[in-house]
Amino acid sequence: MGQGLSCATTQEHGLFSAMQSGDLDTVKAMLERDPSLTHQTTAYDRQSALHIAAANGRIEILSMLLERSVNPDVVNRHKQTPLMLAAMHGKIGCLKKLIEAGANILKFDSLNRRTCLHYAAYYGHSDCLQAVLSAAQSSPVAVSWGYARFVNIRDGRGAAPLHLAARQRRPQCVRILLDNGALVCASTGGYGCPGSTPLHLAARGGSLDCTRELLAWGADRLQRDASGRIPYLVALKHKHGACAALLNPSSAEPLVWPSPLKFISELNQEAKALLERALMDANREREKNILKGTAYSLPSPSHSDTGADDNISEASDTELCCICFEHVCTIEVQDCGHQMCAQCTLALCCHNKPNPTIACLNPPVCPFCRSAIVRLVVAKVKDCDDADQDIGEIGSPKMRKARKSRNFSSEGSSSFKGLSVMSPFGKMGGRGSGRMAAENEWVDKP
Ligand SMILES: [Zn+2]
Ligand SMILES: [Zn+2]
Repeated sequence: MGQGLSCATTQEHGLFSAMQSGDLDTVKAMLERDPSLTHQTTAYDRQSALHIAAANGRIEILSMLLERSVNPDVVNRHKQTPLMLAAMHGKIGCLKKLIEAGANILKFDSLNRRTCLHYAAYYGHSDCLQAVLSAAQSSPVAVSWGYARFVNIRDGRGAAPLHLAARQRRPQCVRILLDNGALVCASTGGYGCPGSTPLHLAARGGSLDCTRELLAWGADRLQRDASGRIPYLVALKHKHGACAALLNPSSAEPLVWPSPLKFISELNQEAKALLERALMDANREREKNILKGTAYSLPSPSHSDTGADDNISEASDTELCCICFEHVCTIEVQDCGHQMCAQCTLALCCHNKPNPTIACLNPPVCPFCRSAIVRLVVAKVKDCDDADQDIGEIGSPKMRKARKSRNFSSEGSSSFKGLSVMSPFGKMGGRGSGRMAAENEWVDKP
C-alpha cells in the first residue's frame, strides 16, 4: 500500500506500537509522563503520532491528540498530512475528525503533489471522497479556490482525482466526482498539449463500470492522447476486450446524461436518481447487444428486468406511461402535471451525441401539452393508501439494489482482465507482428 508506515522502524518506540494497537490507556499514561512525546516522529518517515493514529483508524487516540492541540496539518517526510493517510487507508472516522479539527484539505504532498482528494479517489474510498467534497463546499477552500477548481485539482503530472479514480478502477468515486462537476473530457496535458483523458485511463485500467459511467457523462470516444491514440486503442493494447468493444467508435453510441436537463432548474434528487437508473439500464441493454456473440458476456443485470416487471405487475393499467405503454409512470412534469416513465423522459431529453451548438438552446417541453418543463419530480400515486409505500419502494431500496448490482458488476468486470482479445477483434488481434506495426502508426514519435 503506497508509501505506508514502515512500522518495523517504529518499534523502538513503545508509544507508536501502543498507538497502532489502539491501546488508549498506555498512550495516555505515556503522554502524561512525557508530554513532548506528542511531537515525536518515527526515525525514517518522520510520521508523527497523529499520522499513525489516522492511518490506523485509532479515532480515540486521534481525538485525544487533537485535544492536546497537536497541529492537525503536521507533515511527514513526504509532506503527507494525517488527513491524506486517513484518506489513503479509508479511515472515515479519523478523516472527519481531522476535518472538524480544522485540517487543511488543500495541502499537497511532495511525492506526486497530490491532495487528500487525490488519495481518496486513487484508493477508492468513496466515503472519504464524499466527506472531503462536503468539507470543500463549506470551507474557505470554496471561497478562495472555487469548488469546481478544487474538484478538478491537478497533481504533479496533471492528473485530476477523476483521472486517478478511472485508472484505478473506482467506479463509485468516478460517479461521485462527475456528479460534483469533475470535467469528463479533461486531459492530463496542460495548455494545448495532449494528454490522457479519464476515458483513456479507464481503458488502460480495464474497468467496464468506469468506462460506462464516463461514456454516460458524455466522454468523447474520439479524443486522442499524447500518442494520438483514441481510448479504444488503449483498451485493445492492454487486452481489455469488453471495454474495447464499448469504446469502439463503430459500436452503438451510449445514451448520454442529457444536458437539456440542466435547464430544468429544479430536478429533484429522487427524480434524478430514477432518470440516472433508467439511463444506465438503457446503456446496459446496448452493451448486451454490443457484446452479444462475443467472448465477453456481461454479468446479468437482473435487477433492472425484475424491478421493472415487479412494477408493472403491481400497477394498474392507468399508471402505464401513455407514450410507450410499456413502463410505469414514475416522473411527473411540472407545472402541467403530466406523467410519463423515466425511459420516455430520458428519450425526450437525451441526445446520443451531445451537440454543443443545438443541445443547449432548446430546453425540453412536455410532450403532451408543449409547455415548458419547469421541474421534474417523482410521480405520486394519488388515489390509493399505499402511495407512500410505492414511492418509498421506487425511491430508496431499488436504488440501493441498483447500487449493489453496480458493485457486483464491478467485481465481475475484473474477470475480463485476464481474457485475451478474441474473436470479435480477430482482425486486430490475430495479425501478430502486423499488429505492432498498426499500433505504431498511431504513435507520435517525438
Ligand atoms: Zn414511457
Ligand atoms: Zn404537460
